[in-house]
Amino acid sequence: MRSEIVLGVDVGGTAIKAGAVDRRGRIVAKREIATPADGPASIMVAVGLIARELQKEAGRALAIGVGWPTPLDPERGIVLFDNKLGSAGVNIERMASRATKLPACIENDANAAALAEYLYGAARGAGSVVLLTLGTGVGGGIVLGGEVWHGRDGAAGEVGHVKVHPGGRRCLFCGRRGCLEAYAGAQAILKRYRASGKKAEGMKDVVDAARRGERLAVKIVSEMAEMIGMAVADLANVLNPEIVVIGGGVARAGDILFRPIRAAVAREALPNVSKGLRIVPAKLGNDAGLLGAAGCAWKRFGTSASSPTSTTASRRSRIASSS
Ligand SMILES: [Zn+2]
Repeated sequence: MRSEIVLGVDVGGTAIKAGAVDRRGRIVAKREIATPADGPASIMVAVGLIARELQKEAGRALAIGVGWPTPLDPERGIVLFDNKLGSAGVNIERMASRATKLPACIENDANAAALAEYLYGAARGAGSVVLLTLGTGVGGGIVLGGEVWHGRDGAAGEVGHVKVHPGGRRCLFCGRRGCLEAYAGAQAILKRYRASGKKAEGMKDVVDAARRGERLAVKIVSEMAEMIGMAVADLANVLNPEIVVIGGGVARAGDILFRPIRAAVAREALPNVSKGLRIVPAKLGNDAGLLGAAGCAWKRFGTSASSPTSTTASRRSRIASSS
């Protein structure tokens, strides 16, 4: 017999990654296509097609989870703000459910990645997790007591805009000064590096240059690690998490990044907070988004009778399948 599956879909600005995922977080079938450029309706047509293909291969899914790259209200399924896909105000949850005829849930992509690391990755077994994702910008997600912490308006987890240097460098995203993103986001770092006449395709080139001992690259990478350490220390002082997971391509840099981050946290956080705090690289890489979307679907619709959330899940399931 085929194992039970849900579908996890990670909708990004350039690509849609989707998979059929079993209860243990194994991806049993996978697809990737370019994101249609003409808005959420076309994206959902594509999601509907992929969902059919995946189910042909892996069997009928129980539900679908969708990761969306904008702030959103996960309870109502509505996008709050969008300058990427033109989906502001759209009920993505309902659209996904209609396109696939499956109960659907949605989650912000960074939160989905945090949920994935908590359920299936580097933070498995931990009760509280802070995830930082180092990409073009710096994103993040917070899982407390096994649930994503969304905050009042679904805007929680914006760790990229933690202030690490009052009056410091200007943040390319929010325009304020001294945000972590201005020191640890690839866009800011590459802009600064190239402005001095150096060549770099991406962060890997800067990290490699730092490994070779090139002065500016060493300065940038150590400053990046120091600022991440300061932000993590503050987050740890407030949340006292069990584990901090750092993801994104540059997190694969290893010790050159993690050693100074851990040192800064040990120095800056309260001793009882930093003691025993694990700071580790993410495990799930590019699959984190789709696995987190699938995890959202499992949590909401895949509950057994013994689960304390099964009442809510079945209520939501009825709502989703009747809409
Ligand atoms: Zn900012």
